[in-house]
Amino acid sequence: PEVGAGAIALGAANRWGDRPAFIRAGETITFAELGSRAARFARGLLAGGVRPGDRVALRMPNCLEFPVAYYGTLLAGATFVPVNPLLPEAAAAAQIADADAVRTIHAADVPRICDGHSDGPIDPPATGLAHLAYTGGTTGDSKGVCLPHRNVVVNSLQYACWASGSLPDVDTDGGLTLDQVGSPEEWVTPLGEAVVVNLTPWFHAMGTIAGLNVLLLTGTTTVLHDRLDPAAYLADAERLRITSMGGAPALFAALLACPDIVRTDLSSVRLITSGAAPMPLEMIERLRALAPEAVIAEGYGLTEVTMGATMTPTHRSGTHKPGAVGLPLFDTTVRIMSLDGDGPVATGERGEVWIRGPQVMTGYHGRPDATADVLTDGWLRTGDIGILDADGYLSIVDRLKDMLLYKGYNVYPRELEELLAAHPDVAAGAVVGRPDPAVGELPVAFVVPARAGVRESDVLDDVNRQVVAYKRLREIRFVSTIPVSAAGKILKRELRAQLD
Ligand code: ATP
Repeated sequence: PEVGAGAIALGAANRWGDRPAFIRAGETITFAELGSRAARFARGLLAGGVRPGDRVALRMPNCLEFPVAYYGTLLAGATFVPVNPLLPEAAAAAQIADADAVRTIHAADVPRICDGHSDGPIDPPATGLAHLAYTGGTTGDSKGVCLPHRNVVVNSLQYACWASGSLPDVDTDGGLTLDQVGSPEEWVTPLGEAVVVNLTPWFHAMGTIAGLNVLLLTGTTTVLHDRLDPAAYLADAERLRITSMGGAPALFAALLACPDIVRTDLSSVRLITSGAAPMPLEMIERLRALAPEAVIAEGYGLTEVTMGATMTPTHRSGTHKPGAVGLPLFDTTVRIMSLDGDGPVATGERGEVWIRGPQVMTGYHGRPDATADVLTDGWLRTGDIGILDADGYLSIVDRLKDMLLYKGYNVYPRELEELLAAHPDVAAGAVVGRPDPAVGELPVAFVVPARAGVRESDVLDDVNRQVVAYKRLREIRFVSTIPVSAAGKILKRELRAQLD
């Protein structure tokens, strides 16, 4: 039987009861309270005229009202349309209109909608779309991704099972499929008294799946911080003895740059998970030194696969290969296709990453042409360039759209960014191409210097000594910050615009 994504909240209410689900500035909601408030919200929405199948936009930051409204929307049978609260008014309005949302809910509306409604039993609806989620727009225009309930439930379970070690984390040949296992409660092993500090935005795939659904499935308590304050994060990490740390590499970069980190006791941390953008090798090494007990794992995905397709295997025979984003999750297949359209490439060769699995979207909302460009026979063309090694591990080389062409040679900015990240004079760096009529594109680095007085040649010469001639950096622009999106991705679009 199909399971509705709203069942995740009701299941957690039954299973974890009075355990704290969310804590913010001293206020606590238990799992039981969350289930009850979400059910009341669902009844309030329906009483207010929302009908099953309608789209409901949620435009709020991470706050205690968010999970109530998210699960309540799902329990009403409506489709959750996440809207980045930091989007400028016009962009938000365009997204809400594109999604055909019938209501836009802000945090302050939530108690009012719940008010006066009871939380009687609800059979979580499983038909229609659970999420209509917009891509980050890092590389182009933002598109609405259609994700039925099954996608959301499956992808949440794939990661919850991975986190709790209760199912194979590897796509075994002809092995497990979702239809062969029972209810969510049977699938996920409790993690014990797990606690995390949350900073991943819930409007983004990583927030909704890893930062909400997986934590509810595993009974993890979430402490909410309103903004990234590295010292406050580290103080809570030690005080609350947090069990895992998760986020985009930008979070770890900020924590590692905080002087308090060397004094913080991170011995309670068992798992450090990263995703959304490449994790530099140097970052993995520093985290390993600070939390030697923790497994460091990296996952890869995109909004078009609900959240993710791969993860570093930790609980089975798998080894962590730094720089790789792990193995496909169960029921998921990854293949690497030639950029020239010549079919699959040989093991170890670069090509476009294609993904097939139950978490792959059904299409882009109202964009049949864009959908046809990326979906073929159940396979999603990701627009990322990757390599599968002989053990089936995936590495992401770069995004197809970020790749540079120099005299017909492919230059991958990420390779240069790794070298910048390892350079002692560089606090942060990003590489984009400057169009050049004679050769195509020339690699230019934006660099935040690690100290005063760094000269261009200090960095340029060291990096260029380590790469073949056609990949050499041609210029360094020193800047005070590198622009990143709320989800932690470098906004190369903005950097390219600075070159004009
Ligand atoms: P748009 O597709 O509209 O430009 P976006 O890229 O911000 O927006 P998301 O779905 O948020 O959309 O991001 C997905 C992309 O993030 C992937 O295609 C990939 O390039 C990158 N990514 C995710 N995880 C990793 C990872 N572990 N390592 C490297 N890159 C990653």
